[in-house]
Amino acid sequence: MKIGILSRNANLYSTRRLVESCQKHGHQVEVIDHLKCNIIIEEELPRVYYNGKMLEGFDAIIPRIGASVTFYGTAVVRQFEMMGVFTTVKSRGLADSRDKLRSLQLLTKSGIGLPKTVFTNYSKDVESIIDTVGGVPVVIKLLEGTQGLGVVLADTKKAATSVLEAFNGLKARVIVQEFIKESGGADLRAFVVDGKVVGAMKRQGKQGEFRSNLHRGGTSSVVELSPEEEKAAVSSAKALNLGIAGVDMLQSSRGPLVLEVNSSPGLEGIEKATHLDIADEIIKFIERSAKK
Ligand code: ADP
Repeated sequence: MKIGILSRNANLYSTRRLVESCQKHGHQVEVIDHLKCNIIIEEELPRVYYNGKMLEGFDAIIPRIGASVTFYGTAVVRQFEMMGVFTTVKSRGLADSRDKLRSLQLLTKSGIGLPKTVFTNYSKDVESIIDTVGGVPVVIKLLEGTQGLGVVLADTKKAATSVLEAFNGLKARVIVQEFIKESGGADLRAFVVDGKVVGAMKRQGKQGEFRSNLHRGGTSSVVELSPEEEKAAVSSAKALNLGIAGVDMLQSSRGPLVLEVNSSPGLEGIEKATHLDIADEIIKFIERSAKK
């Protein structure tokens, strides 16, 4: 098969691992920088040009689209879809997953546990927003933040008011969420491929930090998910229609609560924590699905 990996940098761990795995399985593989793709719109003949050449003969693509280039990356993925090329992550799922509010909305009807969350346009209503999520402390999050940046814990109504005012002044859209204290600064990342959890890790924030992101100094270790956690992860990937998903969950006293669903989850953290070959699972998924 001929497989394209949409990635800005062939040296990134995830990209390298996917290339290696394609080669191991005897596939032809090309790393394509989606930002250097030109999308050609023409009746009956959707095409992509890359470095002045038309991209042809691809059976599948694996999108690895960074959050800062979601718009352009999604357009390139959609173009491959129009060309009939199988993609491990569809353009729609990719776009939906990039907005924390939209993805939570899409998860609400699938029986998946979620932290109580409020989105408001009227930030002067702080009292009632805080009451709705069960009182302080609350977590305030930028809708399009990543890697734990733009996620703030406000201990008092006064602090929450100041943070909301500040974000409002910057015209940044935020959600306000109940703080799940019992998760103890840890979360779970389940890596879902083709409707199955292929690896899971627990991430623990550094001392005194409620955010467990590895980019914020958190550490990770392999974990066995409970059947309930596994079900929440699989249902979340399905609700967002993602062939590959990194589902982040908090362990709470009322069961797993899904925080977000990543459509380009990194391989480095999960492979190093679990010693599993996740790249291989992705290539096997393509072999099962492309050209069906
Ligand atoms: P990002 O997409 O920037 O990683 P998250 O919503 O995943 O943002 O939040 C970052 C981290 O903060 C999570 O991994 C988790 O450890 C912690 N966290 C987020 N929301 C809550 C919450 N409601 N209660 C407790 N901890 C939270």
